[in-house]
Amino acid sequence: MALLLIAAAAQAGDILGIRVGQTSAGARIVFDLSAPIDHRAFLLNDPPRLVIDLTSQKWATAKSRHLSNSVVSGYRSGQLDNGLTRVVFDLRQKAIIERTGLLPKTATASHRLVIDMERSSDNIFQARLTDVFGNTEIRDAAPGQKNTSAALPLSGYAKMRNESVSSLTDDTVKTTLPARKPPFAAVKKKRVYKVILDAGHGGEDPGAVAADGIREKNITLSVARILRDQLEETGRYKVVMTRNKDVYVRLRDRLRIARENDGDLFISLHADKIGRSNVRGASIYTLSEKASDDETERLAESENNAGVVAGVDLSAESQDVANILLDLAMREKVNESVLLSRLIGDALRAENIRLLPNSHRSAGFAVLKAPDIPAVLIEIGFLSNPQEARLLTSRTFQTNISRAILKGVDAYFRKMESLQKL
Ligand code: ZN
Repeated sequence: MALLLIAAAAQAGDILGIRVGQTSAGARIVFDLSAPIDHRAFLLNDPPRLVIDLTSQKWATAKSRHLSNSVVSGYRSGQLDNGLTRVVFDLRQKAIIERTGLLPKTATASHRLVIDMERSSDNIFQARLTDVFGNTEIRDAAPGQKNTSAALPLSGYAKMRNESVSSLTDDTVKTTLPARKPPFAAVKKKRVYKVILDAGHGGEDPGAVAADGIREKNITLSVARILRDQLEETGRYKVVMTRNKDVYVRLRDRLRIARENDGDLFISLHADKIGRSNVRGASIYTLSEKASDDETERLAESENNAGVVAGVDLSAESQDVANILLDLAMREKVNESVLLSRLIGDALRAENIRLLPNSHRSAGFAVLKAPDIPAVLIEIGFLSNPQEARLLTSRTFQTNISRAILKGVDAYFRKMESLQKL
């Protein structure tokens, strides 16, 4: 009985290690595995990435790492809804998939999945974006399903396994031919949600400036870009950014972008200063006509005044938008915004991100007045606190808080789907 269980566990194919080596053509990526597993591999652009989906869920190695390889700068990973593990490799330069294949266990090496990457021109990279290597009909490994090996379809998995075990050797990794990439909807019919990401401030409006010159506008843009990548890599979201460079964007234009793109969610990112320098931690704001406290009121005031920076007086516009608050439909969106805010707060807490006590607040931030779209403003921290200012510039922190926000967004859409509101 015990032996049987061990055998079943090994079939699941744990990821024992990920190695990336330099080759003359580009790079070779090797997954060390406890058993052969199913995979599919394809490319994404802007920025260039290689995505590997695996029917494995167990890790015995780092789930993300930076690498010094000339083609691959690092990898990150996560679980897809259908139980697959997705590993995303960031590419330092354009490179295409040359081949993928499984190598059998030997006396000195475990089972391996090998992906050979070849440096390429922009044009060739573009042309290969629709290719999928490996098993395009990779089966959903439903979470909690113990008997994964039996559940895998005979076509595809078994065929590939036999083929690879019998014909591959260490020297020749057999090429799996690319098929046309099916749209993800075909793999699992799910709606792709549109998230509007709003990096606070920009251009001549630096936002808050910390004692050592750290500017809010740079932090918000950096986090927005990381969050965009993380959201899009799930395949569940399309992201529109209100700005993707260091430019000034008027508040009303930020709202217009949200409306015109028919966003399902609006997330504004900030890292402001407040009066008390000892206060630190993230906080999440939803729209209300009355601020939840004085400090919050002042924060909203200074944020709204940022609209005057480039000679635009926002007071006339905000009256317009404020009327929308009277609309009953808007109240529904406020409730949804509060739900989103709560779920993001929970996710931040679960990821050990420091939060303000009473981290969900409400205030009259003009940027939250996007009609018909649930909207939250996240203060990812305060630049008025010197320690937090340093933390906010850290890539690791920016990545961690983005991941937490992504989890909050996931939880929100799961909840909305279960309520059948979407
Ligand atoms: Zn701000």
